[in-house]
Amino acid sequence: MDISIVVPLYNEDESLPELLAWIDRVMKEHQFSYEAILVDDGSKDTSWEVINQLQAIYSTVRGIKFRRNYGKSAALFCGFEAAKGDVVITMDADLQDSPDEIPELYRMVKEENYDIVSGWKQKRYDPITKTIPSKFFNRTARAVSGIRLHDFNCGLKAYNCQVIKSIEVYGEMHRYIPILAKEAGFTRIGEKVVQHQERKYGVTKFGLSRFVNGFLDLLSISFMTRFGKKPMHFFGLLGSFMFAIGFLSSAWIGVQKLVSMSHGVKAPLVTDSPYFYIALTTMIIGTQMILTGFVAELVSRSSTDRNLYQIDKEI
Ligand code: UDP
Ligand code: MG
Repeated sequence: MDISIVVPLYNEDESLPELLAWIDRVMKEHQFSYEAILVDDGSKDTSWEVINQLQAIYSTVRGIKFRRNYGKSAALFCGFEAAKGDVVITMDADLQDSPDEIPELYRMVKEENYDIVSGWKQKRYDPITKTIPSKFFNRTARAVSGIRLHDFNCGLKAYNCQVIKSIEVYGEMHRYIPILAKEAGFTRIGEKVVQHQERKYGVTKFGLSRFVNGFLDLLSISFMTRFGKKPMHFFGLLGSFMFAIGFLSSAWIGVQKLVSMSHGVKAPLVTDSPYFYIALTTMIIGTQMILTGFVAELVSRSSTDRNLYQIDKEI
């Protein structure tokens, strides 16, 4: 099979018929063999019924329904696990991404040997409350990862099937799949300017929480790219450094006291010095940090986030 199109969706019943008709038309025009994997991320509207109707029309449609809403990353990951095509395309369900882009994305992966081609919504039809934070995220993601993409969060992307079988998309990481892929050793990452439309039906599913989540992801991903699965290297080093400073300062205070005593001066007690307490606190913080490193190490070793989602129905 040439192409698997993975569409994560949450309450998109109005958009789906148009989307599928459009996809099918483009695929037939270019004579691609394809499947459209519609992952219903626990919709509360009639999306699942619509998917069933569409499957009766298009034999290329596959549907997977989650038991509840697990988020876009889980939906994408599930689609990745189900995909059988040589090239896997992801796109949003809301008709903001255009299926007309698929043939060129496919060609870039197949003929130019890209591992990933990411869409770039150069002319973007989203409110300013989205576009400005998005600029910040993209800039930071570029700096952190060294991947020169303008638009990490674009829903429209194409992957060589090897890439998606080698990565795990968890949390809200769908924004940073190219970074995960690069970590896994896939370095040919390209970009293509794509058309973008205004949302035709329904509403956006990401509110203000996207910024908080996006920022936390960015923090963890920058941490990951620097220290990988070795948090102890970071916390241990920082903790040891602080402990050493605290230890040396208290030793210095002690030595000073001894020196003044040897000169016959009746020096105040070590514990009378405020610096002693600062030094002590620094040592304690240092120890805490080393322990934090240890906990992080435990977590990174035992994190079996495999049970990311539960499937309710599949067609
Ligand atoms: N989506 C999803 N699960 C969620 C939220 C969103 O599968 O919990 C889907 C949504 O239906 C759409 C895509 O992810 O197909 C992008 O969402 P949306 O269009 O709301 O994001 P925006 O374009 O506003 O960034
Ligand atoms: Mg959208």
